[in-house]
Amino acid sequence: MKPKIFVTRKIYTEVLLELKKNCEVEIWDQEDVPVPRHILEEKIPHIDGLYCLLTENIDKKLLDEAKNLKIISNMAVGYNNIDISAATEKGILVTNTPGVLTETTADLTFALLMATARRIIEADRYLKEGHWKTWSPNLLTGQEIHGSNLGIIGLGEIGIAVAKRAKGFNMNILYYNRNRKHEVESSLGIHYADLNSLLKQSDFVCVLTPYTPETKNLIDKEQLRMMKKSAILINTARGGIVNENALYDALTSEVIWGAGLDVFEEEPVSLKNSLLALPNVVVLPHIGSASLNTRMEMARMAACNILQALNGEVPQNLINKELACT
Ligand code: NAP
Repeated sequence: MKPKIFVTRKIYTEVLLELKKNCEVEIWDQEDVPVPRHILEEKIPHIDGLYCLLTENIDKKLLDEAKNLKIISNMAVGYNNIDISAATEKGILVTNTPGVLTETTADLTFALLMATARRIIEADRYLKEGHWKTWSPNLLTGQEIHGSNLGIIGLGEIGIAVAKRAKGFNMNILYYNRNRKHEVESSLGIHYADLNSLLKQSDFVCVLTPYTPETKNLIDKEQLRMMKKSAILINTARGGIVNENALYDALTSEVIWGAGLDVFEEEPVSLKNSLLALPNVVVLPHIGSASLNTRMEMARMAACNILQALNGEVPQNLINKELACT
């Protein structure tokens, strides 16, 4: 009998066919509506594998209903939507899709940095709304990018890829990370700084850590107050790492100059979120990895992980590695 899997969103046909060759597949085949919780609860006791997205909250309560579940394959590199310790306790493997989205997310991070610094979105709107009357010395002046100081918080795969882009802009790069990375420092010519010094010195602060209990509100009122008045905060990691209320206060009282956000504490972000009304904030709907190629690669990798696990192999991108030895 083929193992049963549940796929929580419409995915590429090619990937779905691959899964169907080896498994009995059920799918929540809607493009833009996440699977309702009650459907997940209904499916979970009967499946061997779960192919899910970051929109699904795979918590202990849900996992307590899993009877045969062997693998949760998340089509994302971040996995803060899954209770890893509850899964590990139950012997359920959890996988993610690292690497394939690194360059694409770094591209978007840099695009957001540039759009915020040079007021690209505002300028586009200004012209299309018919406000452009003449060239003017102070029209839509922004912040310098080349030669400025970039502070990267979380120098992982994406952080390093952002640093490489910044080198091309002749930026001075500082980073703060849980573990110091001496080799990357010497190969890229970048410098380690503790969090406070990074915040004080940087013209741009890019947040690129995972969202964990340690990084929740890592950037709060106190940290924002340390930043330069001309500084720009870019968050393409996860919403909860930056305290949105504190950020709103900092942006409206000229504590910092601007922000570019691809991620929010609550997603989709409410149109009532006061950050959305600020002209010095550029917002995106969590599209860091959204290129056609990358999303296909992520989907393939997530499928490969689930098939490896159901075949009794250790999946390539196992997060709870302690289960590989059991
Ligand atoms: P990664 O390679 O695992 O890098 C994460 C880095 O953060 C590591 O260097 C890690 O340090 C560091 N870190 C972890 N906890 C920390 C802490 N408490 N303080 C300081 N540094 C800490 O992950 P990645 O592929 O670069 O992705 C980073 C995050 O970006 C993901 O977790 C995900 O949430 C987010 N993301 C968002 C999008 C999007 O669409 N916007 C797309 C992809 C990823 P160590 O070296 O000590 O482990």
